[in-house]
Amino acid sequence: MKIHLPVDIQKKLISALEKAGNQEIGGVLMGEHIAEAEFRIVDLTIQEQFGSVTFFIRLVTDIVKPLKGFFKQTRYNYKKFNYLGEWHSHPLFSPVPSKKDIQSMQEIVTDSDTGANFVILLIVRLKDVREIEATATIFFQDGQFSECKLIMEN
Ligand SMILES: [Zn+2]
Repeated sequence: MKIHLPVDIQKKLISALEKAGNQEIGGVLMGEHIAEAEFRIVDLTIQEQFGSVTFFIRLVTDIVKPLKGFFKQTRYNYKKFNYLGEWHSHPLFSPVPSKKDIQSMQEIVTDSDTGANFVILLIVRLKDVREIEATATIFFQDGQFSECKLIMEN
């Protein structure tokens, strides 16, 4: 699986990460299906997370509204534009899924309300000024997961 991260989304993430500092933030990813096993992240929501910095709690009420707007904007073309997964930051440690992250993603992908065959988890961290370090992992309903090839567009 290949995941493209366009420049405007990278910029959006960088500003949010700079503002958040050591606070973990996250949200949902909206994707565009561009080729066989290839998606582009076309939008994302940004939520502040209060409390623990070790995992991101997904609040359904927070994602329903932005998704509705996204679906309307893309004219309800669900085959091409749809919910792709989740993202969050690891400001204080490397951007790879923790045990808790793997658990949460497996819950999301097997949740019938999600209605997805797979979900992507993007984890990001500010590397330098105006630069990010990131990984993307795909989770399947049978419990399997693997790292995606993340393409930073420029
Ligand atoms: Zn995490």
